[in-house]
Amino acid sequence: MATSLDLIALDGPSGAGKSSAAKRVAEALGWAYLDTGAMFRATALAILRAGASLEDEAALGRVLATLNLEQVGTSIYLNGEDVSDAIRTPEITKFVTPVSQDPRVRKVLLEQQRAIGAKGGFVVDGRDIGTVVFPGAGLKIYLTASVEARAERRFLEQQAKGMTMTLAEVAADIARRDHADSTRAEAPLRRAEDAVELDSSGLTLAEVVARIVELWRSRKT
Ligand code: C5P
Repeated sequence: MATSLDLIALDGPSGAGKSSAAKRVAEALGWAYLDTGAMFRATALAILRAGASLEDEAALGRVLATLNLEQVGTSIYLNGEDVSDAIRTPEITKFVTPVSQDPRVRKVLLEQQRAIGAKGGFVVDGRDIGTVVFPGAGLKIYLTASVEARAERRFLEQQAKGMTMTLAEVAADIARRDHADSTRAEAPLRRAEDAVELDSSGLTLAEVVARIVELWRSRKT
């Protein structure tokens, strides 16, 4: 029987607060944080920058063969360049959907994610971490929230960054991504059977973090 990995898989739909919670849980446990969504976003950016597309097999192959992604703290580097801000534009948020549906992309990123997290000591945030990437994770959390709560959270985040989408546009974008992520053929978003479901709608970030840390500690003993 496989031993469970010292790793927390944090899955759930867009805007549920996964990345904020994952960062803080990692800090509380003295672990690292792996943002797999950022890996998909940086891959989308690499494809666009190379002038490649998902339809051009050879060009996509070249991008994937030279894809060098690195996370240092909460920053993501693409071939040595910090692209943490460049991957958060509406253009990338749109293009990352078909990119993340592509089996060739998912295969390359799956290998990289497994290599990074293999030794444990990571909180990994994504959509398929508990189901596909690390089914042996010691704790799996499925973090949800109502569409309204998620849209409001993303809207405030985007306003703080000076972006100009309306609340209705943010809500429509979240609904679009929920649908795309949960109905795709490859590694769709779904709750792993052994995941603990946590609804963050009425909770503060500190409460979500405390609950996850407590769940981890109670599993360890
Ligand atoms: O989490 P974030 O919104 O930054 O992720 C960007 C996109 O990457 C998501 O909309 C989702 O389609 C995709 N993704 C994925 N599998 C993961 C993480 C993200 O398909 N493990």
